[in-house]
Amino acid sequence: MAAQRLDGRLLAAQLESTLAAFIAAGLSKGIRPPGLAVLRVGNDPASGVYVANKEKACARIGAISFGCHLPADISQTELEAELQRLNKNPAVDGILVQLPVPASINDRALLQVLDPAKDADGLHSLNLGRLLRGEPGPRSCTPAGVMALLKEAQIPLEGVRALVVGRSILVGQPMALMLQQANATVTVAHSRSLDLEGLCRNAELVVVAAGRPELIGAAHISPGAVVVDVGIHRRKQGGLVGDVKFEEVEPLAKAITPVPGGVGPMTVTMLLLNTVRMWAQQHDLSEPCAGL
Ligand code: NAD
Repeated sequence: MAAQRLDGRLLAAQLESTLAAFIAAGLSKGIRPPGLAVLRVGNDPASGVYVANKEKACARIGAISFGCHLPADISQTELEAELQRLNKNPAVDGILVQLPVPASINDRALLQVLDPAKDADGLHSLNLGRLLRGEPGPRSCTPAGVMALLKEAQIPLEGVRALVVGRSILVGQPMALMLQQANATVTVAHSRSLDLEGLCRNAELVVVAAGRPELIGAAHISPGAVVVDVGIHRRKQGGLVGDVKFEEVEPLAKAITPVPGGVGPMTVTMLLLNTVRMWAQQHDLSEPCAGL
């Protein structure tokens, strides 16, 4: 039987219409629209595409995007001052620092300048600490998007053996924490792990965020496993590919995310959700998309 497709495009579109209606209701009360600022430094071409997608997504739901594109040779001090300006701007509810920033910038120090209450990607240490403790706060968008996809598809997590491949602060670590909070039994594999095939085969749920094109094939996946592919790579011959060999793995899996159209659209939607939540808090509105 063919694997269930975990369709990120469809769920993202559904959530976007919920958010658009939520914003429209706020605007009808005379409240200003939500604002998201995306801070981009330098000219990384992939970042250009991601930022443009985020700006378009804001427009679709009625949020305002504040583009802030700064030159690659900006100093750390000037950049931190720009971020402070966005922190203080009352029309900006959420701020995202588009990573990677140029090597001359200390991104860790930069993220600490971000107002934790406007941290749309949940990467400030305070918000990562809140995640660790299971306290409310903005969550990292990509793993939050994965959790929303799994929830929508009613994939059971309690007691499930889950493997997260990758341990970055952006994806792997928060993913592992979110799965643990959903009572999965979580293992984290990384570039120094031994026997990746064996670790994967033992897992009922595999989330791959290694940033290695087509790392995971049929030999890694036990029949009936759920496979989530976070990886995204541009093929030389055109088109996108993930960290999973989709054609090989799909016949074995119980459910799988495609690339494109799986995790990617959900990342953008969770960024919108975080921003709209921050806006709602500012204006004492109810919780949009409660339960996610
Ligand atoms: P990263 O490079 O910061 O981290 C990669 C992690 O994978 C590291 O912890 C490393 O130890 C591990 N790893 C590398 N090679 C491995 C191997 N052979 N076996 C086991 N572990 C290995 O990357 P990241 O920022 O976490 O992103 C991972 C991937 O997800 C990238 O392809 C990125 O483009 C993609 N991504 C997609 C979205 C989305 O919205 N779809 C969002 C963020 C990142």
